[in-house]
Amino acid sequence: MSFTLHGLGVSGGIAIGRAFLMSHATLEVAHLTINPRQVDKELARFEEAVAAVQDELIAIREENTEHLPSELLAFIDLHATFLNDPEFTEAPKALIREKHCNAEWALVQQMEILVKQFEQFEDPYLRERKADVVQVVERVVKELLGHPGRAMLKRVKAAASGENLIVVAHDLAPTEVIAFKDRRFAAFATDVGGATSHTAILSRSMAIPAVVGVKNARAIIRDGESLIVDGICGVLIVDPDERILDEYRIRKEQLELERSKLKRLKSAPSETRDGVAVRLMANIELPDDAKMAIESGAEGVGLFRTEFLFLGRGNVPTEDEQFEAYRRVIRLMEKRPITIRTFDLGGDKTIDTQRTKTNPALGRRAIRLSLANPPMFLGQLRAILRASHYGKIRLLIPMLSHAHQIDAMLAMVAQAKESLKDEKISFDEHMEVGGMIEVPGAALAIQMFLKRLDFLSIGTNDLIQYTLAIDRTDEQVANLYDPLHPAVVMLVAHAITSAEKAGIPIAVCGEMAGAPKFTRLLIGMGLRTFSMHPSQILEVKSRVVQADAAELAPLVRRILRLDETGKIKEAVDKLNAPVPGG
Ligand code: PEP
Ligand code: MG
Repeated sequence: MSFTLHGLGVSGGIAIGRAFLMSHATLEVAHLTINPRQVDKELARFEEAVAAVQDELIAIREENTEHLPSELLAFIDLHATFLNDPEFTEAPKALIREKHCNAEWALVQQMEILVKQFEQFEDPYLRERKADVVQVVERVVKELLGHPGRAMLKRVKAAASGENLIVVAHDLAPTEVIAFKDRRFAAFATDVGGATSHTAILSRSMAIPAVVGVKNARAIIRDGESLIVDGICGVLIVDPDERILDEYRIRKEQLELERSKLKRLKSAPSETRDGVAVRLMANIELPDDAKMAIESGAEGVGLFRTEFLFLGRGNVPTEDEQFEAYRRVIRLMEKRPITIRTFDLGGDKTIDTQRTKTNPALGRRAIRLSLANPPMFLGQLRAILRASHYGKIRLLIPMLSHAHQIDAMLAMVAQAKESLKDEKISFDEHMEVGGMIEVPGAALAIQMFLKRLDFLSIGTNDLIQYTLAIDRTDEQVANLYDPLHPAVVMLVAHAITSAEKAGIPIAVCGEMAGAPKFTRLLIGMGLRTFSMHPSQILEVKSRVVQADAAELAPLVRRILRLDETGKIKEAVDKLNAPVPGG
């Protein structure tokens, strides 16, 4: 009988195939009391299993240094660190010695304690690392049970290569993920995981559909069962009937056709029908995301969210580490311009494990934190300036609200330049400095920003959050988060027009820039630079090349006079509707 399961779609597309179930060893361990005479033997068995997994991780690391995304290699290192940590290995040994538990059961008990500790973290990224604890334990338990990772590898290799297989797992560990790189799976579905899970990272880089957080998928779905994965809607259809299969086959074909049409746009110039150039840039979070930016035809990086270099590592990256990361982006972007945003930490992205404020989004976040921590900020400014010698770099400052913040920030940029000059280190003297417009007050009082800065970039994600008083991370109020609220539309239009009048370049780098349904509206407002997730670029380009900027301008001026969200929505739908015969 056919049924549907819901989860979080983390990588788009549709896949139709058969379930390939991955075992979940920790759920299957026996709870045994061993004979006290067996304790030494059990301890040795435990230590051997840990050593075998350690060796395996080292080997995987060495074999894959060149061709794996750096995020995945970092996760492998993290797993190796767990295995070297006495908290991880000593506590189970004590349970074997004192409580006479079998090794598997001792390890799973300690895992449960560690998982609870990770669950206490406020930081969502750190909290999600509990999955890594479970995955390492899983590997050791498999080794203890005598079906090590190598057995899984064999199973993967043995799977008929022509068949469309959909991996269904409780969760995927980086080691498993690596095993998949030579075998084209059609899609992934997992019980747990969020947007930053390994499954999400891998599926996006492989461009295959994935749905995570499908509670109990692994328990409900049977091996070999027919499945449809809809990574766009986050839906899994189990044992679909012929009618549903046909419907999805058609949708899949349509999607593939659209994708191949879009690919052809990669090298086409990004300009409207009436010849207006519209620059499409990429938002990146880690240096290697630049590869995706190039693949999607981005003209450059419009937003490098450098705070991701600071997250999940427990300390601040050194100036040299940051410099190397920026240089890597320069190399990967092959001379294209790069806008590096200084760290936006302290809101929903914290490096502290304890969140101390109840309203972090309104607290010491982004530039406020930078100015409160001069050594950390200066280190980053120096690293960015040093990188500016090797490529076309612009500096972008997040969350500005006051003129004195700009003045203080510019003074620190001058100080960083002086210190580099003293040390005879080269940098671009004329590196442009810009600011994000993401606070409504900044959008309204934009003149004081236009006077002091070389360029601006509108962060609509925060601008909407602050304009409508909606915590962007709170699902309970997500329905009120509306880019077409008249106040938001007014602020965005006001910022664009004011910058245009002042002759200061302005971009939009929030999610609005990457949503094709807003492309025509933004072009009509006069926007000429969009920055977005690389996966959106071609679709937005397809809207750009069909648009006529001169025609859109008066239509959008009329929309700006509307004072109701519903009316604005209707008008934007009309703006997007294909012209009959056009
Ligand atoms: C924004 O606020 O729109 C933006 C681009 O910044 P972030 O999403 O990183 O806060
Ligand atoms: Mg922001």
